Amino acid sequence: MPLKTSSLMDKNFSRPMPKTPLMPNKKILILTTGGTIAGSGDDHLKGSSYQAGALNGETLLSLLPSIQETLEVQEIAQIDSVEITPHIWKMLLESLHSKALEYDGFVITHGTDTMEESAFALDLLYKKDKPVVLVGAMRPSNALGSDGMKNLCNGIALASQSPYRGVMVLMNDKIYNPHTLYKAHTYNLDAFASRNGGEIGYVLDGCVKFFYHPLPSIPLPFEPQDLESLPKVEIVYLYAGIEELPQFSHKVDGLVIAGCGAGNIPSKIKSSLLQLQDDGIKILACTRGSQGFVTQSDFIPAYGLSVPKARILLALCLKHSFTQEAIQEIFSHF
Ligand code: ASP
Repeated sequence: MPLKTSSLMDKNFSRPMPKTPLMPNKKILILTTGGTIAGSGDDHLKGSSYQAGALNGETLLSLLPSIQETLEVQEIAQIDSVEITPHIWKMLLESLHSKALEYDGFVITHGTDTMEESAFALDLLYKKDKPVVLVGAMRPSNALGSDGMKNLCNGIALASQSPYRGVMVLMNDKIYNPHTLYKAHTYNLDAFASRNGGEIGYVLDGCVKFFYHPLPSIPLPFEPQDLESLPKVEIVYLYAGIEELPQFSHKVDGLVIAGCGAGNIPSKIKSSLLQLQDDGIKILACTRGSQGFVTQSDFIPAYGLSVPKARILLALCLKHSFTQEAIQEIFSHF
């Protein structure tokens, strides 16, 4: 499997932060899906009680201050991101792929709860070379101190200026890699963190600065249509004292085990899982922890991927009926 490695910072990435935004007047398409960034509540002082996805795409756009980029909007969904499905990822990819020639970059507005999964799934499946930036908000549009329009403006700046032409996330001025970011706080504006590292860059008042070369996407043989009827992969969260595996009412094709520490599994559970593995169910060993890796296991180690991201990648591998060895090789790149 060819792996593009992160190269030393080249000229574009290491240039000094400009005093004014570079390359304005770009044409950016904003794809809206809902979330808190499109949320609205009854009490401006209560930023934690509101309806996510209350505003449609046009209304969201009307809240933006005037900026130099040419903006167009396409509404994909108007939902809380806990309702996001692979079908919505497919709709987003259809738009990104069919409109790549018309626009200089894309911004996706998205709820923060599942943003890490959407960003990762899009990164695995995005085939074009225009920047794609996911943005969200921790406070609804009409709350005191709302962060949505600031994040959206910064996301537009990043989509129009980024020398990196893949999928990124912009929250609270920080640029994150989709492989590593995760939501770490339920309410704070600085809600995101990165597994085994930090943010890869920063946007200050519309000016973009990368600290690190983003980890390029790994070329994998997946296609957006794989997202229709994905194989069933369930998550088993281990805990001290667990006695037996949960039973599922439907057929399961794969299991992701949120293991203790470096993917450790209590012996009783391990013997049941080994039996399932012998029966052909693909089992991935992950960690409950938010940092570090799982590299050794009786099952397939998930390396640096978090539990929800490992679940998406395993489902795509199973869609292609990859062998245990092939799946292991793919995961070893993360
Ligand atoms: N529940 C919201 C969502 O994910 C939270 C947010 O956007 O911050 O849609």
